[in-house]
Amino acid sequence: MGTTGLLLGVVLFLLTIGAWLWSRDRREKSGVPEGEIIYADTGTWFPNAQPLYAPAYKLAGKPDYLVQQGDGSIVPVEVKSGRAPADPHEGHVLQLAAYCLLVTVNYGQRPSHGIIQYQDRAFAVDFTIDLEEDLLDLLAEMHEGLFARDVDRDHNDWNRCQRCGMRSVCAQRLA
Ligand code: SF4
Repeated sequence: MGTTGLLLGVVLFLLTIGAWLWSRDRREKSGVPEGEIIYADTGTWFPNAQPLYAPAYKLAGKPDYLVQQGDGSIVPVEVKSGRAPADPHEGHVLQLAAYCLLVTVNYGQRPSHGIIQYQDRAFAVDFTIDLEEDLLDLLAEMHEGLFARDVDRDHNDWNRCQRCGMRSVCAQRLA
């Protein structure tokens, strides 16, 4: 191999290192943990991804990502478009807990944690027994509500009502 071949080899090596550093930086900024992305709700990698179901809990959902780590464990990741609050919103934590439960049922392994990725910051949330119990309590409450004659509005969010598909028939709408 002549000098040209040697130079070409060095350039290719440097380009490979640069690409690797760039992708590592992107991954760190995205909050997605290291590992293989095995499921995506974004339509980018798996456009036909189906929702996950847990019939025993009457629960269904589609996490933004499921990431399989080197040890085989699975981490659900939920991406939020807004800026990060000081602590993740309770609703977002419970949503992530629901995805952890769906992973447990559908993949036969309980995630140790999930990740909420806001625009500027990611939070790892442990899927503890206490969090699972909070989720199950909430699910029980919601299922009871399904059969109740009247259910009171549980928020004062004008924007939420304005975007709601039930607004035209809802007696408690704010907008
Ligand atoms: S319009 Fe009614 S159902 Fe919809 S968010 Fe508002 S209160 Fe809830």
